[in-house]
Amino acid sequence: MLDTAYRRALAAWTAPRSYLTATLLLSAWIALFGNIALWTKLLGLARQGSIPHQTALTLAAILLASAAITAVLLALLAWPRVFKPAAVVLLLVTATVQHMMLAYGTVIDQGMVRNVLQTNFTELRDQLSPDLFVQWLLVAGPPSLWLLPRRLIASGGWRRLLVNGMTVGVSLAVASGGILSIYTTLAPLVRNHMELRFMLNPTVPVLSTLATAGKALRGERSKALVGITAGAALGPQYAAGGAPPLLVLVVGETARADHFALNGYGRDTTPRLAAKDIVSFTQMRSCGTSTLASLPCMFSSIGKAGYESQKAEHENLLDVLQAAGLAVLWLDNQAGCKGVCARVPNASTADPYPPADALRAQLCADGDCLDRLMLAGLDARIAALPAERRRRGVVLVMHQMGSHGPAYYRRSAADTKTFGPECRTTELAQCPVAAVVDAFDNSIRETDRFLSDVIDWLGTQQKTYAPGMLYVSDHGESLGEFGLYLHGVPYAFAPDAQKHVPMVAWLGRALGERSATDTACLHKHRADPLTHDNLYPTVLGLLDVQTPTYRIAQDAFTPCRNGLPGETPDVAGRVPLRAVRAAS
Ligand SMILES: [Zn+2]
Repeated sequence: MLDTAYRRALAAWTAPRSYLTATLLLSAWIALFGNIALWTKLLGLARQGSIPHQTALTLAAILLASAAITAVLLALLAWPRVFKPAAVVLLLVTATVQHMMLAYGTVIDQGMVRNVLQTNFTELRDQLSPDLFVQWLLVAGPPSLWLLPRRLIASGGWRRLLVNGMTVGVSLAVASGGILSIYTTLAPLVRNHMELRFMLNPTVPVLSTLATAGKALRGERSKALVGITAGAALGPQYAAGGAPPLLVLVVGETARADHFALNGYGRDTTPRLAAKDIVSFTQMRSCGTSTLASLPCMFSSIGKAGYESQKAEHENLLDVLQAAGLAVLWLDNQAGCKGVCARVPNASTADPYPPADALRAQLCADGDCLDRLMLAGLDARIAALPAERRRRGVVLVMHQMGSHGPAYYRRSAADTKTFGPECRTTELAQCPVAAVVDAFDNSIRETDRFLSDVIDWLGTQQKTYAPGMLYVSDHGESLGEFGLYLHGVPYAFAPDAQKHVPMVAWLGRALGERSATDTACLHKHRADPLTHDNLYPTVLGLLDVQTPTYRIAQDAFTPCRNGLPGETPDVAGRVPLRAVRAAS
């Protein structure tokens, strides 16, 4: 009796279905349960009165269009041996993207796809969480159990093609019809809430991945590197003798300018730097909102606009410094230099290195190391650079782990932690915002400790070099404002928290003198509006490296150059050194 009922239920559960039925059922499921973030957002907007007319009809039309668009994707895959695995993968992608949207407010545009593809193992592991598995179980589980044991009724090749083609056609018509019917409501809604465009799951992540892959393929074909090093040369400061420059350029990670006490933050996050003779520039804005968008752009000679529209990869600041004759070293404590250090000597804290290995027990946990590990054996790293280059000068880039999220609590040492109880999970939305901020602020204090250690180390180099440090973060971070966490929101509508980054300069007396930079004057200019576009000319100006791509007007230190002996200041009391030289 029971046996018959069981067999009947099993037969019903596994009864053969057509590809069309499977496509439509899965599309409806995904539209409803794979778009919780979109529905939550839309219902919230409706409650606020942002969808004033025909609210129910608008929501129904969006639901219909979203199901129809997913049906297009599935109909394209509706082939024997392809459909089942492809549908399960699509369900898992849907569940994963939904988790990222719900947990962090992240949307998956092309920039985010590139970020994900360049992520390393420990970063990926940080994203694995019980909530993700719950999403897999609830969103991908039931439809997979329905689909996998079932026989799908196969028809011949041409018939299949016809049915699939018609499904695609009708679905497209339904989707456009749905959108057009509510266009007058939808258009202003999307204009005011641009993130809605990126929330359609899994259509947007799939299209973003395809677009990124297409670009990568085209990029593969045009591998030619655009050279910018022609004409790079050391300026007259080098002929004057004196100690050669040693510049440490610290590329910060995920630090927010407004969480630096140096910039007026109410908590004492930067006590060690405050005790040093540094200049904190308070109005620096990043090029992008992710490491991958910002990092190559920071080192680019053509600024944000040029970098984002470039057709082929260009040489960068480090190539110019090296071509001019300086020794360059990129030291990485993160997921790599995103191509920036491709043609210069580079090392990673992940590589075996005896002086650092001794400190790993103290500074590393779970595969991540605190940035202070980069200071271990630094003298030896510098000494290993070619001697004839070192005699001219050294540029050392340190790429921080900084405040990399979501595991902020792993970005500070126990004896650095000051604020708390800090959030000790990567499920940020599960912690009170204050606890997330505590963990983040502790990571800023760790960066404060690291940077002041860098300055102390530079102090030990003064017999040989004229040292200086320039620290700039790659982008900021959302810490729960507007329900957003982490970063990577498309630049046009990213909150300022993701773009407003700290920049700190420390110039030893010798470097200040040889570059004719007046530090007291820099203090007066600390609130000048700056962007990552200013970094390239500022480093070149500070190091007196001459190249046709140097733009004096964008050099952040230009207003504070006193000029060298023999050069006459202008009415404002300053000498635009390189403009004078370029003209003569
Ligand atoms: Zn970053």
